[in-house]
Formats: sequence, C-alpha cells, structure tokens
Amino acid sequence: MDNQGDIDSGSVQPAVIPRPEHTISRASISSSALKVLYRLKEAGFQSFLVGGGVRDLLLGREPKDFDVATNATPDEIRHLFRNCRLIGRRFRLAHVRFGREIIEVATFRARHDSQSADDRDSAHSEQGRILRDNVYGGIEDDAWRRDFTVNALYYDIKDFSVIDYVSGLEDLKGGILRLIGDPEQRYREDPVRMLRAVRFAAKLGFRIHPDSEAAIHELDYLLEDIPTARLFEEVMKLFLGGCAVTTFELLRHYDLFRRLFPMTEEALSHEEQGFPITFVLRALENTDKRLAEDKPVTPAFLYAALLWEPVRLRTQVLLDQGMTALEASQLAGNQITSEQVQATSLPKRFSFPMREIWMLQSRLERRRGKAPYRMLEHPRFRAAYDFLLLRSETGEAPKELADWWTEFQTLNAGERDKMVESAPSRKKRRRRPRKRKPAANVND
Ligand code: ATP
Ligand code: MG
Repeated sequence: MDNQGDIDSGSVQPAVIPRPEHTISRASISSSALKVLYRLKEAGFQSFLVGGGVRDLLLGREPKDFDVATNATPDEIRHLFRNCRLIGRRFRLAHVRFGREIIEVATFRARHDSQSADDRDSAHSEQGRILRDNVYGGIEDDAWRRDFTVNALYYDIKDFSVIDYVSGLEDLKGGILRLIGDPEQRYREDPVRMLRAVRFAAKLGFRIHPDSEAAIHELDYLLEDIPTARLFEEVMKLFLGGCAVTTFELLRHYDLFRRLFPMTEEALSHEEQGFPITFVLRALENTDKRLAEDKPVTPAFLYAALLWEPVRLRTQVLLDQGMTALEASQLAGNQITSEQVQATSLPKRFSFPMREIWMLQSRLERRRGKAPYRMLEHPRFRAAYDFLLLRSETGEAPKELADWWTEFQTLNAGERDKMVESAPSRKKRRRRPRKRKPAANVND
C-alpha cells in the first residue's frame, strides 16, 4: 500500500494485529511502563505503547525507552501520577519518573491540517516549521503526525493488539524508513526529522525510502534555524547511541554532518595523507566499543574528539603568528569552542572538561620531576590519557609516550621514580608537530 500521498483522507481502517499474531510480550516491557499503561486504562483512558518501544520489540531488540500515548490531557495525566512533571512548550508532554527511568506520556496530537487556528496552541514559522503543537486529537490523528511509519505503531494495553494506520508493519519487515505523508512538508515542519532519519537508518540498519531520501538533499539548510540546544540533544543521541561510526558515515553521505560540526567537516576535507579522518573515526569506534562494553562515555570526551582536528589546525595557525605553544593551544581551544556553540550548543559542564582534556595533552609530555605524579592525581587524568591513546593509535602522538603512561600507572612508587629519572626531557622531544622525516630516511 502506498501511504506517501494524501494524508487528509478522512477515517482509515487500521490493521489490527491480535496478540497471538505478533511477538510483543508484556514480559519485555518495563514494569514502570506497564504501571503507567494500566493506571491510564483503569482511569478510563485509552492507553498505548508507541514509538521506538513498539518498533524495537517487534524487531526483537531491547528498547532504549518506552513512550506512551493516551487521550488523557496533560493535566489529567498529572492528576493520575504523583511522580509526574509536565515539560516542553513546543510539544507539551508528561514525564512520569520511577527512580532513574522516565516514561514519556504524550496526549494524542491533532493533524495539522485539521486543527483550529488558535495560535496559542499551534503555530508555524514562515518555513513551515511547527513552533507549537498542542492541539489534541484521537489516535488516528496522532498516528499520521508521527515521523516515520515504523514509529507509528501502537500496542494497546486493553487487548494487547498492535494497531497500524500507516503500513508501518510492512516497512518494518522491508527494513524501510519512510516518512509519513509528503516528505518535503514533514521536513519543513521539523527539520530535525532529517537527522532522525539518519539516526534510525544507522541504528536499525534500515534503508531510507528514496522519496524521504531525496528531500534531504534539498532541505538540509533548514537545520540552520533549529535552536542549537535541540541540536546538541540530537548530537548526543546520534553519537552516544552505540552506532556512532555508521551514523557519522551516513551523516557525511547526506551532507548533514557539516550542519552539526562545520569546522570538523572543513578539517576532514583538508585531510593530509589520510590523517585527520582516521582520528575522528577511531574516536567514534572507541565510543561504540565502550558502550558495547557498558563503559561510561561522556559528552566532553566526544566533543573533545570531534573538535580536535579544528583545534590542532587553529593552534598551528596561531603558532605561525608567533604565539607561544601555551598561548596558542589555549586560545585555539577557546576560539573553536565559541565557534562550535554557534552550530550546536555545549553546556558549560561539558565544555569545561573538554578544554581540560585538550590542555592536558601537552602536560602529558612533561615526564620529569614532580609533573607526572601531579598528573596522576589530576581528576581528568583518565580522560586525558584515553585521549592520548587514541592520538597515538592514529599516529598523531608518539606511541612511546602513550606506552610510557600505560606502564607508569601500573608500577609501585620505587619503580615510578626510576621511570621518571630516565624519562626523556620534554625539550629534547619537542618537535614541530607533523613534520615528517625526509623520504630518503624512511627505508633506512
Ligand atoms: P529511540 O527512543 O529509540 O531513540 P523513538 O522512536 O522512541 O526512538 P523518541 O524520540 O523517543 O524516538 O520519540 C518517540 C516517538 O515520538 C517516535 O517514535 C515518533 O513516533 C514520535 N516522534 C518523536 N520525535 C518526532 C518528531 N520530530 N516528529 C514526529 N514524530 C516524532
Ligand atoms: Mg523513545
């Protein structure tokens, strides 16, 4: 069935898949989400699991979080749950909290073509972007205004059936990510859907439908108007979701990466001997690997890695202008940070440690005297050392230096003293970065 066309087709009979014919079992839904679903139902409201939860369960994957849709209004939801907070202006939602888990409960939204012209509750920008979306409707309206067909499947807690208004099940089987309705209009309403398309394609291994894909090439400039704080949130989901490498490659393929990290894109296009691109890739591989091993990853480290090439390039420019190494690296860090926050914001609690990671790179070169002992005590030592490892793996920092720190940490006090005594002094080691040996020596 083709669902690309007219979405104002009145009432559509949904496909209803009864419990025995699908694979979603309550055992794989979090107990908090079940509590919310049942409490709404018992209070006489319609109550569905929707979005990524249903999609991922049908694919046999573990959902990241659970979203609930209901005909209860935000105020009615708030009265039902003590542990509830209403959030969002553009899109009002209830967050019901259970310890660390948050269940997002959204009231069915009306379709945009059927809503009243009351602009306190809904508004568009000149480009067609939805500025407010708080007119409520029924489940069918709600289905049509979701982004992708595979994200618009509903699991009904009343009889455990799955309800499909938009042929989402067919696309789920076909591995297709397809915008509901007219792609251009849907991207104009919310340009972040372009980034979401890439994120889901990478995470699910799905193909973006050709129509949904073509519009991206035309409309990527619309991302300029998105508040930088929202783009920061999206960057977190894109790169800290476990599929950073594939996501990065797809973002570059669709020319969307430069909308998020213009200076990094610029640096990548100037690659020297294949050098820059390997660092970012290596860092993202490392991020994915750490997440797969349940190790912590931080936005500060991620941003430090994504912006390292621009920082290095800028440092070199400032050195060439005659600044000292310390001045140049500090100023480069400040400049790149303030230029980056014009594309995606970066809260201070992350930008501060990010700059520390950069600054500590040169301090790691100081291995004589008390410096290395102080370095070990530094609260950001671990991150700075991990960063140095990555740099050495891509050949940008000496492997010998990284190995030295690896060994230094494992030794007892006496052995450490010996290492420090025989460590090369920094002056002797310092060379202009990235100067290569003349070709004649390479094969010696
Ligand atoms: P995941 O949580 O795995 O990242 P998700 O599909 O659940 O993926 P959420 O951001 O949690 O994504 O949103 C929940 C649901 O809300 C989506 O599945 C989709 O139906 C709807 N939705 C979210 N953002 C948008 C948007 N920008 N435009 C239209 N619908 C959206
Ligand atoms: Mg979700």
